[in-house]
Amino acid sequence: MATALLTHADCLDHVTPNGHPERVARLEHILLALEPLDLKRVTAPLAADDDLLRVHPANYIADIRDSRPIEGFKQIDGDTFMSPGSVDAAYRAAGAAVRAVDMVVRGEVSNAFCAVRPPGHHAETETAMGFCLFGNAALAAKHALDHHGLSRVAVFDFDVHHGNGTQELLWDERRALVITSQQMPLWPGSGRPDETGAYETVLNIPLPPGSGGTEMRSAYEAQAFPRLRAFRPELIIISAGFDAHQDDPLASLNWTTSDFAWITGELCKIANEMCDGRIVSTLEGGYDLNALSEATRAHVEELMKAAR
Ligand SMILES: [Zn+2]
Repeated sequence: MATALLTHADCLDHVTPNGHPERVARLEHILLALEPLDLKRVTAPLAADDDLLRVHPANYIADIRDSRPIEGFKQIDGDTFMSPGSVDAAYRAAGAAVRAVDMVVRGEVSNAFCAVRPPGHHAETETAMGFCLFGNAALAAKHALDHHGLSRVAVFDFDVHHGNGTQELLWDERRALVITSQQMPLWPGSGRPDETGAYETVLNIPLPPGSGGTEMRSAYEAQAFPRLRAFRPELIIISAGFDAHQDDPLASLNWTTSDFAWITGELCKIANEMCDGRIVSTLEGGYDLNALSEATRAHVEELMKAAR
């Protein structure tokens, strides 16, 4: 079976001010890097409000829609901006994750990657932050649980920043396991090991600045992977941020492209053991254009290998 690639041109219309790291060129570089690959290409739909309402209240969704500027930018947080195209982009990013869950759970494809922006893992219930508007990974998990009736969904977040939004949105969801590794200290500052969720379904793995793939691999093998296997997920959702790469300008971990391939391969192995290989991956961070596009391609190639 195939690997799906979900994206939409609307995600290129979410524009940020000059010099902002979360920029249109990120997605352009990724799409170029993925162009030669034999993927099942799917147009990302707009999310339905019902999908967003599983994690955000109606007044927050209305606020985001109302914050869209007619021209220029609207700043809604220290580092989060909206342009005229941002609402549609955010609805496509969320819609991609939901559609990817549909395709993977129904067995139309083995796994899927959502090449979308804005990212999602910092968005909290009623707070847009860290370049994120809607909690794409969390709402995809809720869709799998509530719409498809799955019993256990895992979210695995290897972005260099803490997935505070995903953690908060799924804090009291005992059917979802959230595993997130992050450089610590680093913005947003949360993600300590004692943050474990209302039902002990959150696992935080802090990694020290300057550490590399060796430290990451031993932490994942000691903590993350055993926990993931013990949970017996029926679907794994990956928050795929590539900003732990050694070339990334926003953080100081020293992972290489082959580390991202290794993580993906290991998650595919676990998914094959547990849930017929079901993986939905959605783009989060990654701000060095070459590192980002190269690591994303390596990630997607591993998904494709597992899908064969
Ligand atoms: Zn990040």
